[in-house]
Amino acid sequence: MADANATQRGAPAAHIDSDKLAHEITEQFRQVLSTKRMNELTTRSVNSRSASPAPRDFGTPQPPSLHNAPPPSYSSLRNIPLVPQPPQDPRSIRFKNMLLSLSNMPIRWENPGLLDEALRVVPLEQIYNEAEEESQILQAEAESLGDGKKAAWGYQDCVVRALLRWFKRSFFTWVNNPPCSRCYSPTIAVGMAAPLPDEQARGANQVELYKCSVDGCGVYERYPRYNDAFVLLQTRKGRCGEWANCFSMLCRAVGSRVRWVWNSEDHVWTEVYSVHRKRWIHVDACEEAWDKPRLYTEGWGKKLSYCIAFSVDGAMDVTRRYVRNPTKHGLKRDRAPEAVLLYIMDEIRAMRRSNLSKQDKFRLEGEDMRENRELRHYVISSIATEVSKINPADILSGRQGPPRSDPDAEKALEGRQSGATEWIRARGEGGRGTPNQQNPRDQHPR
Ligand SMILES: [Zn+2]
Repeated sequence: MADANATQRGAPAAHIDSDKLAHEITEQFRQVLSTKRMNELTTRSVNSRSASPAPRDFGTPQPPSLHNAPPPSYSSLRNIPLVPQPPQDPRSIRFKNMLLSLSNMPIRWENPGLLDEALRVVPLEQIYNEAEEESQILQAEAESLGDGKKAAWGYQDCVVRALLRWFKRSFFTWVNNPPCSRCYSPTIAVGMAAPLPDEQARGANQVELYKCSVDGCGVYERYPRYNDAFVLLQTRKGRCGEWANCFSMLCRAVGSRVRWVWNSEDHVWTEVYSVHRKRWIHVDACEEAWDKPRLYTEGWGKKLSYCIAFSVDGAMDVTRRYVRNPTKHGLKRDRAPEAVLLYIMDEIRAMRRSNLSKQDKFRLEGEDMRENRELRHYVISSIATEVSKINPADILSGRQGPPRSDPDAEKALEGRQSGATEWIRARGEGGRGTPNQQNPRDQHPR
């Protein structure tokens, strides 16, 4: 109301246009109410666990963006608050057990002694120098733009970016089929083998067996799938499971908060918390991808159902960060009702935070709320982008022109060009989107 008072003070009494003033005050009230409603909506959907299952009040005018936009087809993505429900049917209970078991991955990295030891394989000086240089460039760039602009990434972000480059270019190797150790010829998969005692001792529960493709050579190669990030520092090879496991651990070792993201369509990757940007950043070591969450859908053309992030102090369904347009790139989410998934996430969070101080819990809850807002925003802006692609002239003339280009989608596609397609093909990724129907107990790095 400060503005209304200012208007009153500033205008000579005789010339007050009372109609105009009334209109202004009304307008301000409308704004205040609209903001309040918007906040209530936000709080209600974020705090759905504590709220009673109040049905949406359809009598209240909705904010325009929610009111006019067509709802996404995903029930989970609609802005309707869900009340978490404990899993009851066998399928939901299986899903819960699987997620609980997956959530252990980041816990295994929390070993200060081993993390220190891990840093011995990392060329720290080179990485810190590169990070220093990059962060200075970004800082200078920001300053040249003026307006108190913030650098794109902070120093710690640049450390992880340098680590990522080194990891992909100089440290880790992708292995689909191990080559024959006698004649270096390609091998053919012949099934699984029981782990040998020393393989088992180093954490390999599964061993793939390969036979040399050359007649008469007959050598068998074992491919133990090591699940222990610290063992992987020595083997330095694997598929995306090993890559994500080892790289995420190293991010932890250089002091970042880290998440391990499991995707139900057979991929895993990393998220790193950027203190500078106050959000979680997508990082895929196999792709040397930094903050390209649309890579899998808009880049590779994959369809995804679940992307769940686990950290030492939380769990979050981050699917909306990776699937911006569920109609185009979403797969059916039927492993458990959405309300049950919320419950499972709450349960894992509570378990991971049980030993934290009240203050830390409060801070993490604030972070979860911010992230929920961020994730909701992705869906809303995706709808807005779709709507903005509609050309009114085309509607009038009844034809459909080519959609306008989407700069973010193009950014996601960058990785696809310049030979990256070969890399994706070699790894058997890209566009298949086969659901991962593994037994929860067999969850191992892919
Ligand atoms: Zn051979």
